[in-house]
Amino acid sequence: MDSNFSASRVQESVEQMPLVLAVEDNEDNLLLIAYVLEQFNCTFMAATDGRKALSLAREYQPDMILLDMVLPEVSGIELISRFKQDKLTSRIPIIAVTGLVLAREREQIESAGCDDYISKPYLLNDLEAVIRRYLPRLTFPALTPN
Ligand code: MN
Repeated sequence: MDSNFSASRVQESVEQMPLVLAVEDNEDNLLLIAYVLEQFNCTFMAATDGRKALSLAREYQPDMILLDMVLPEVSGIELISRFKQDKLTSRIPIIAVTGLVLAREREQIESAGCDDYISKPYLLNDLEAVIRRYLPRLTFPALTPN
């Protein structure tokens, strides 16, 4: 048995799985996101604060970032700007996950360079739709009925 061969096959399939960074300080919310991403065969990384989010995004350059807007220390708005100003992370789609629904905050999110947002509390369909929109090369069966 050629073990190098099997190892490289495993590596190959891992590389084809989209990598999603979820930035979220609430454990229940994180569990839900992890569950959904698992159904989509996405590889998943979690950061519970802004500093970790910035370093993971720079190091691994995920295919998408799901970003909670209310975080300790660094605000979501500040994080969006920092992701978008950094050459290493500027092209990564950022989806704000926000309970802030006022028009003013929505404008702030957009002008900071965020690609899209979903409002908390969101339905599974909302999360699925946004993941499909920004990871179009994914092929997986619908999780939720339309
Ligand atoms: Mn939060």
